[in-house]
Amino acid sequence: MNGKKWFTTGADGASFAIVMAITDPGAGNYQKASMIIVPTNNPGFKRVRNTPIMGESGQGHDSHSEINYDNCKVPVENIIGKEGEGFYLAQQRLGPGRVHHCMRWIGTAERALDMMCKRAAGRSLGADTLLAHKQTVQNWIAESRASIDACRLMVLNAAHMLETVGSKTARNDISAIKFYVANMLQEVLDKAIQVHGAYGLTDDCILSHWYRHERAARIYDGPDEVHKSSLARQILKNYGVNKK
Ligand SMILES: Cc1cc2nc3c(=O)[nH]c(=O)nc-3n(C[C@H](O)[C@H](O)[C@H](O)COP(=O)(O)OP(=O)(O)OC[C@H]3O[C@@H](n4cnc5c(N)ncnc54)[C@H](O)[C@@H]3O)c2cc1C
Repeated sequence: MNGKKWFTTGADGASFAIVMAITDPGAGNYQKASMIIVPTNNPGFKRVRNTPIMGESGQGHDSHSEINYDNCKVPVENIIGKEGEGFYLAQQRLGPGRVHHCMRWIGTAERALDMMCKRAAGRSLGADTLLAHKQTVQNWIAESRASIDACRLMVLNAAHMLETVGSKTARNDISAIKFYVANMLQEVLDKAIQVHGAYGLTDDCILSHWYRHERAARIYDGPDEVHKSSLARQILKNYGVNKK
Protein backbone atom coordinates (compact mmCIF):
# COMPACT_ATOMS: atom_id res chain seq x y z
CA MET A 1 0.00 0.00 0.00
CA ASN A 2 1.12 3.49 -0.85
CA GLY A 3 -0.81 6.60 0.03
CA LYS A 4 -1.69 9.25 2.56
CA LYS A 5 -4.64 9.12 4.97
CA TRP A 6 -5.90 12.03 6.97
CA PHE A 7 -8.11 11.59 10.03
CA THR A 8 -7.40 8.13 11.35
CA THR A 9 -9.14 8.45 14.70
CA GLY A 10 -7.35 6.78 17.60
CA ALA A 11 -4.26 5.71 15.60
CA ASP A 12 -2.10 7.24 18.34
CA GLY A 13 -1.43 4.29 20.68
CA ALA A 14 -3.29 1.74 18.53
CA SER A 15 -1.66 -1.59 17.71
CA PHE A 16 -3.31 -1.86 14.31
CA ALA A 17 -5.24 0.16 11.77
CA ILE A 18 -7.97 -1.00 9.40
CA VAL A 19 -7.31 0.29 5.91
CA MET A 20 -10.12 0.40 3.40
CA ALA A 21 -8.56 0.36 -0.05
CA ILE A 22 -9.56 -0.41 -3.61
CA THR A 23 -8.21 -3.87 -4.37
CA ASP A 24 -10.09 -4.51 -7.63
CA PRO A 25 -10.70 -1.33 -9.66
CA GLY A 26 -12.52 -3.33 -12.34
CA ALA A 27 -15.17 -4.73 -9.98
CA GLY A 28 -18.65 -3.28 -9.50
CA ASN A 29 -19.00 -0.13 -7.37
CA TYR A 30 -19.72 -2.04 -4.18
CA GLN A 31 -17.09 -4.79 -4.70
CA LYS A 32 -13.99 -2.70 -5.45
CA ALA A 33 -12.73 -2.20 -1.89
CA SER A 34 -11.41 -4.47 0.85
CA MET A 35 -10.64 -3.91 4.52
CA ILE A 36 -7.10 -4.80 5.53
CA ILE A 37 -5.52 -5.02 8.98
CA VAL A 38 -2.22 -3.15 9.16
CA PRO A 39 -0.17 -3.44 12.38
CA THR A 40 1.07 0.00 13.36
CA ASN A 41 4.59 -1.37 13.89
CA ASN A 42 4.76 -2.24 10.18
CA PRO A 43 7.81 -0.37 8.76
CA GLY A 44 5.61 1.03 5.97
CA PHE A 45 3.05 2.52 8.41
CA LYS A 46 4.19 6.04 9.32
CA ARG A 47 2.13 8.13 11.74
CA VAL A 48 3.11 11.68 10.76
CA ARG A 49 1.29 13.61 13.52
CA ASN A 50 -1.93 14.06 15.41
CA THR A 51 -3.66 16.68 13.29
CA PRO A 52 -4.60 19.65 15.51
CA ILE A 53 -8.34 20.31 15.49
CA MET A 54 -9.76 23.56 16.89
CA GLY A 55 -6.45 24.12 18.69
CA GLU A 56 -6.08 20.64 20.19
CA SER A 57 -3.82 17.84 18.93
CA GLY A 58 -5.33 15.37 21.37
CA GLN A 59 -3.76 12.06 22.30
CA GLY A 60 -4.61 8.37 22.44
CA HIS A 61 -8.18 7.56 21.45
CA ASP A 62 -8.96 11.27 21.47
CA SER A 63 -6.80 12.13 18.45
CA HIS A 64 -6.94 12.03 14.66
CA SER A 65 -3.71 11.10 12.93
CA GLU A 66 -2.24 11.75 9.57
CA ILE A 67 -0.71 8.52 8.24
CA ASN A 68 1.64 7.81 5.36
CA TYR A 69 1.59 4.33 3.84
CA ASP A 70 4.98 3.89 2.31
CA ASN A 71 5.41 0.58 0.46
CA CYS A 72 3.44 -0.95 3.30
CA LYS A 73 3.18 -4.71 2.84
CA VAL A 74 0.98 -7.10 4.80
CA PRO A 75 0.09 -10.76 4.16
CA VAL A 76 -3.06 -11.53 2.16
CA GLU A 77 -4.67 -13.13 5.22
CA ASN A 78 -4.86 -9.63 6.79
CA ILE A 79 -7.91 -8.96 4.62
CA ILE A 80 -11.00 -8.93 6.84
CA GLY A 81 -13.59 -11.33 5.47
CA LYS A 82 -13.13 -11.75 1.73
CA GLU A 83 -11.56 -9.52 -0.88
CA GLY A 84 -14.16 -7.04 -2.15
CA GLU A 85 -16.25 -7.08 1.03
CA GLY A 86 -14.98 -3.68 2.27
CA PHE A 87 -18.10 -1.73 1.36
CA TYR A 88 -20.38 -4.38 2.85
CA LEU A 89 -18.40 -4.42 6.11
CA ALA A 90 -18.38 -0.60 6.26
CA GLN A 91 -22.16 -0.57 5.93
CA GLN A 92 -22.46 -3.13 8.73
CA ARG A 93 -20.33 -0.99 11.04
CA LEU A 94 -21.56 2.49 10.13
CA GLY A 95 -25.21 2.04 11.18
CA PRO A 96 -24.52 0.89 14.75
CA GLY A 97 -21.57 3.33 14.92
CA ARG A 98 -23.88 6.26 14.15
CA VAL A 99 -26.37 5.10 16.80
CA HIS A 100 -23.47 4.99 19.23
CA HIS A 101 -22.38 8.54 18.33
CA CYS A 102 -25.94 9.75 18.93
CA MET A 103 -26.12 8.03 22.31
CA ARG A 104 -22.87 9.72 23.34
CA TRP A 105 -24.08 13.12 22.09
CA ILE A 106 -27.32 12.75 24.07
CA GLY A 107 -25.26 12.02 27.19
CA THR A 108 -23.13 15.12 26.56
CA ALA A 109 -26.22 17.27 25.95
CA GLU A 110 -27.76 15.94 29.16
CA ARG A 111 -24.69 17.01 31.13
CA ALA A 112 -24.66 20.42 29.42
CA LEU A 113 -28.32 20.95 30.38
CA ASP A 114 -27.56 19.96 33.97
CA MET A 115 -24.71 22.50 34.02
CA MET A 116 -27.00 25.12 32.47
CA CYS A 117 -29.60 24.61 35.22
CA LYS A 118 -27.03 24.65 38.04
CA ARG A 119 -25.49 27.83 36.74
CA ALA A 120 -28.89 29.52 36.26
CA ALA A 121 -29.94 28.51 39.75
CA GLY A 122 -26.67 29.66 41.32
CA ARG A 123 -25.94 32.92 39.53
CA SER A 124 -27.33 35.99 41.27
CA LEU A 125 -28.05 39.11 39.23
CA GLY A 126 -28.63 41.11 42.41
CA ALA A 127 -31.87 42.36 43.96
CA ASP A 128 -33.02 38.80 44.75
CA THR A 129 -32.94 37.91 41.07
CA LEU A 130 -31.30 34.77 39.77
CA LEU A 131 -30.38 34.01 36.17
CA ALA A 132 -32.97 31.22 36.50
CA HIS A 133 -35.70 33.87 36.93
CA LYS A 134 -35.12 35.22 33.41
CA GLN A 135 -37.60 33.99 30.84
CA THR A 136 -35.01 33.67 28.08
CA VAL A 137 -32.99 31.28 30.23
CA GLN A 138 -36.16 29.39 31.15
CA ASN A 139 -36.94 29.08 27.43
CA TRP A 140 -33.46 27.67 26.75
CA ILE A 141 -33.84 25.13 29.55
CA ALA A 142 -37.30 24.02 28.39
CA GLU A 143 -36.26 23.86 24.71
CA SER A 144 -33.15 21.86 25.57
CA ARG A 145 -35.16 19.41 27.70
CA ALA A 146 -37.68 18.86 24.90
CA SER A 147 -34.97 18.51 22.22
CA ILE A 148 -32.95 15.98 24.20
CA ASP A 149 -36.04 13.91 24.98
CA ALA A 150 -37.17 13.96 21.33
CA CYS A 151 -33.70 12.88 20.20
CA ARG A 152 -33.56 10.09 22.76
CA LEU A 153 -36.83 8.63 21.44
CA MET A 154 -35.64 8.96 17.83
CA VAL A 155 -32.40 7.13 18.67
CA LEU A 156 -34.24 4.40 20.57
CA ASN A 157 -36.49 3.92 17.55
CA ALA A 158 -33.53 3.81 15.13
CA ALA A 159 -31.74 1.25 17.32
CA HIS A 160 -34.93 -0.82 17.45
CA MET A 161 -35.25 -0.67 13.65
CA LEU A 162 -31.59 -1.62 13.23
CA GLU A 163 -32.07 -4.63 15.44
CA THR A 164 -35.34 -5.77 13.92
CA VAL A 165 -35.13 -4.95 10.20
CA GLY A 166 -31.37 -4.47 9.64
CA SER A 167 -29.16 -1.58 8.55
CA LYS A 168 -30.37 -1.40 4.94
CA THR A 169 -34.04 -0.92 5.82
CA ALA A 170 -33.20 1.27 8.83
CA ARG A 171 -30.98 3.62 6.79
CA ASN A 172 -33.52 6.47 6.78
CA ASP A 173 -33.86 6.33 10.57
CA ILE A 174 -30.07 6.29 10.93
CA SER A 175 -29.59 9.24 8.56
CA ALA A 176 -32.27 11.22 10.41
CA ILE A 177 -30.69 10.76 13.85
CA LYS A 178 -27.16 11.38 12.57
CA PHE A 179 -27.81 14.98 11.52
CA TYR A 180 -30.68 15.73 13.93
CA VAL A 181 -28.91 14.73 17.15
CA ALA A 182 -25.59 16.34 16.07
CA ASN A 183 -27.40 19.66 15.58
CA MET A 184 -29.36 19.31 18.82
CA LEU A 185 -26.07 18.86 20.69
CA GLN A 186 -24.61 22.00 19.20
CA GLU A 187 -27.67 24.05 20.05
CA VAL A 188 -27.72 22.81 23.66
CA LEU A 189 -23.98 23.41 24.08
CA ASP A 190 -24.31 26.91 22.65
CA LYS A 191 -27.09 27.78 25.10
CA ALA A 192 -25.19 26.27 28.02
CA ILE A 193 -22.14 28.37 27.17
CA GLN A 194 -24.28 31.49 26.90
CA VAL A 195 -25.72 30.87 30.38
CA HIS A 196 -22.18 30.46 31.77
CA GLY A 197 -21.03 33.77 30.29
CA ALA A 198 -17.28 34.29 29.87
CA TYR A 199 -16.49 31.29 32.09
CA GLY A 200 -18.21 29.03 29.54
CA LEU A 201 -15.64 30.00 26.94
CA THR A 202 -12.62 29.24 29.08
CA ASP A 203 -10.69 25.99 29.12
CA ASP A 204 -11.56 25.78 32.83
CA CYS A 205 -15.08 24.86 31.76
CA ILE A 206 -15.70 21.58 29.97
CA LEU A 207 -18.40 23.19 27.82
CA SER A 208 -15.77 24.92 25.66
CA HIS A 209 -14.01 21.58 25.11
CA TRP A 210 -17.26 19.92 24.04
CA TYR A 211 -18.16 22.87 21.81
CA ARG A 212 -14.84 22.62 19.95
CA HIS A 213 -14.71 18.84 19.96
CA GLU A 214 -18.28 18.17 18.89
CA ARG A 215 -18.35 20.61 15.98
CA ALA A 216 -16.97 17.64 14.09
CA ALA A 217 -20.18 15.68 14.78
CA ARG A 218 -21.81 17.40 11.81
CA ILE A 219 -19.00 16.25 9.53
CA TYR A 220 -17.63 12.82 10.46
CA ASP A 221 -19.44 9.62 9.51
CA GLY A 222 -21.13 11.62 6.78
CA PRO A 223 -21.77 15.39 6.81
CA ASP A 224 -25.30 16.66 7.56
CA GLU A 225 -25.92 17.49 3.92
CA VAL A 226 -25.14 13.95 2.74
CA HIS A 227 -27.53 12.39 5.27
CA LYS A 228 -30.25 14.93 4.52
CA SER A 229 -29.87 14.37 0.80
CA SER A 230 -29.97 10.58 1.25
CA LEU A 231 -33.08 10.77 3.44
CA ALA A 232 -34.87 13.21 1.14
CA ARG A 233 -34.10 11.07 -1.93
CA GLN A 234 -35.59 8.01 -0.25
CA ILE A 235 -38.72 9.99 0.68
CA LEU A 236 -39.03 11.51 -2.80
CA LYS A 237 -38.94 8.06 -4.41
CA ASN A 238 -42.49 7.73 -3.11
CA TYR A 239 -43.35 10.80 -5.19
CA GLY A 240 -41.88 9.44 -8.40
CA VAL A 241 -38.59 11.35 -8.20
CA ASN A 242 -35.64 9.18 -9.20
CA LYS A 243 -31.93 9.57 -8.53
CA LYS A 244 -30.26 12.17 -10.75
C1 LIG B 1 -12.93 14.48 14.00
C2 LIG B 1 -12.95 13.65 12.76
C3 LIG B 1 -12.62 12.30 12.83
C4 LIG B 1 -12.58 11.50 11.69
N1 LIG B 1 -12.19 10.19 11.78
C5 LIG B 1 -12.10 9.43 10.67
C6 LIG B 1 -11.62 8.07 10.72
O1 LIG B 1 -11.31 7.55 11.78
N2 LIG B 1 -11.51 7.39 9.57
C7 LIG B 1 -11.86 7.92 8.37
O2 LIG B 1 -11.75 7.25 7.35
N3 LIG B 1 -12.30 9.20 8.28
C8 LIG B 1 -12.43 9.96 9.39
N4 LIG B 1 -12.86 11.27 9.30
C9 LIG B 1 -13.15 11.83 7.97
C10 LIG B 1 -14.63 12.03 7.73
O3 LIG B 1 -15.29 10.80 7.52
C11 LIG B 1 -14.78 13.00 6.53
O4 LIG B 1 -14.23 14.24 6.93
C12 LIG B 1 -16.22 13.15 6.11
O5 LIG B 1 -16.72 11.98 5.52
C13 LIG B 1 -16.38 14.29 5.09
O6 LIG B 1 -15.47 14.15 4.04
P1 LIG B 1 -14.51 15.35 3.68
O7 LIG B 1 -13.86 15.89 4.90
O8 LIG B 1 -13.63 14.89 2.55
O9 LIG B 1 -15.46 16.51 3.16
P2 LIG B 1 -15.99 16.73 1.69
O10 LIG B 1 -16.45 15.44 1.09
O11 LIG B 1 -14.99 17.55 0.94
O12 LIG B 1 -17.28 17.61 1.98
C14 LIG B 1 -17.18 18.98 2.37
C15 LIG B 1 -18.57 19.52 2.57
O13 LIG B 1 -19.26 19.47 1.33
C16 LIG B 1 -20.62 19.14 1.54
N5 LIG B 1 -20.94 17.91 0.83
C17 LIG B 1 -20.12 16.82 0.63
N6 LIG B 1 -20.76 15.86 -0.06
C18 LIG B 1 -22.00 16.34 -0.32
C19 LIG B 1 -23.14 15.82 -0.99
N7 LIG B 1 -23.13 14.59 -1.54
N8 LIG B 1 -24.25 16.59 -1.03
C20 LIG B 1 -24.28 17.81 -0.47
N9 LIG B 1 -23.23 18.37 0.16
C21 LIG B 1 -22.12 17.64 0.26
C22 LIG B 1 -20.81 19.00 3.05
O14 LIG B 1 -21.27 20.23 3.58
C23 LIG B 1 -19.41 18.72 3.54
O15 LIG B 1 -19.22 19.12 4.89
C24 LIG B 1 -12.91 12.08 10.43
C25 LIG B 1 -13.27 13.45 10.37
C26 LIG B 1 -13.29 14.22 11.51
C27 LIG B 1 -13.66 15.69 11.40
